[in-house]
Amino acid sequence: MEECIFCKIVNNEIPSEKVFESDSVLAFQDINPKAPVHILIIPKKHIKSIASESSEEVAKELITVAKQIAMDKGIVGYKLLFNVGKEGGQMVDHLHLHLLSGKVVELL
Ligand code: 5GP
Ligand code: ZN
Repeated sequence: MEECIFCKIVNNEIPSEKVFESDSVLAFQDINPKAPVHILIIPKKHIKSIASESSEEVAKELITVAKQIAMDKGIVGYKLLFNVGKEGGQMVDHLHLHLLSGKVVELL
């Protein structure tokens, strides 16, 4: 997707503070963190949202990576969040899992 911000991050056209990378998944720091820990975990392939067909398999992979990051960073308690659609608070139309820890300052 040419105009997708997260696709541009995947392609290194927009810089990001990377936390984890595999062939299919990228995790990076949220540019405007809403909590002391706020990491975004995305599939490299463009998928719009959890509402997209067959997104469950990819979602499972994102959750696995989130758990691994939390374990690696010693994050004991955390929240995992998918916003789905504009009405659900999704601003970027490229599937992403929010990994949040600490006091969330703003509802996403
Ligand atoms: P959403 O509201 O779509 O669930 O969350 C999108 C998230 O992406 C927001 O928390 C926002 O701060 C973050 N974000 C938007 N643009 C960029 C960007 O260019 N770089 C990074 N690292 N995060 C971004
Ligand atoms: Zn995209």
